[in-house]
Amino acid sequence: MTLPLPLESADELALGHVGRLGKWCGAKSRNEVFEALRERIGIRGTGVTPALHAVAIACGIQPDQYVGRHSMLPFTCFLVSANLTLGRCAPRWSDPVVSKIGCLTPLGLPTFCARCALEQRDRFAYSTWVRTFQLPGTLRCSQHESPLLQAPDAESFMKQPSDVYASGRYLTLPARKWSYDHPAIVKFAACAREMLATSRSWPGDLVRRRLSQRAELVGLRTSRVGSSPLLSDQAFDTFPIGFLEEFFPVPTQRTGGLFVPAIDCASIRTSNAPTGVAIALAMSLLYSSPREALNALTLASQLDP
Ligand SMILES: [Zn+2]
Repeated sequence: MTLPLPLESADELALGHVGRLGKWCGAKSRNEVFEALRERIGIRGTGVTPALHAVAIACGIQPDQYVGRHSMLPFTCFLVSANLTLGRCAPRWSDPVVSKIGCLTPLGLPTFCARCALEQRDRFAYSTWVRTFQLPGTLRCSQHESPLLQAPDAESFMKQPSDVYASGRYLTLPARKWSYDHPAIVKFAACAREMLATSRSWPGDLVRRRLSQRAELVGLRTSRVGSSPLLSDQAFDTFPIGFLEEFFPVPTQRTGGLFVPAIDCASIRTSNAPTGVAIALAMSLLYSSPREALNALTLASQLDP
């Protein structure tokens, strides 16, 4: 019997795909699915091959391709350190990274659009968890304009969103101190989606260097000391404070020119690599559109592989 394959056209999240595989093989938990698939492809033990790689191999999909197109790693772990043994031009998430955070989602709780889920169930007889709905800053479905809903626990990824909706066991998203249609947040969310859509990891050194050069070009400070405004100053001027407080440890009393590590690490070299949220924020502040930002990074990686 053929395994259900991930629905790429629907941007299906791997965890939801694993849930559908669970239904197919009669497994009740995610770990039972991984165990069944490892057995099917002849891999023993949990420490060798990351679970998502085992799913990919069982489905006949190249593991890096499956992880890139169906996990949240292209957003949550956008940057990776160049690994000379793998070739600088082909950075990839290491097996420990895929094992440790490949199954995590930025929001934690499974998030869905009820109308998308019901329409999809009517069309395919099942519904899928969509990756872009799991991104921070996204509160509504762009197709239906309807507020997104959440399942009450992470285990619900084993069910289908249409079933969660039918059960009535869902939550509305918590009220925010910021509005989803604030222009800066709309642009931030578009950057996050664009990062996810690249379906790959990016070389950390190169991207940070490019963002720093861009910050300098638009008149921002690229060192801790100086009189020019910082990227974080621009963030405070552009974003609602409630949004920044939700995603970054920011000072409650803002002082212009004060280095905010969680934000400024995207444009100033620090030992801490910027998170996916920090990269999306920097892209939205430094470039006119997410496409322009990604084109600049693509060009940079082609010139300096
Ligand atoms: Zn929808």
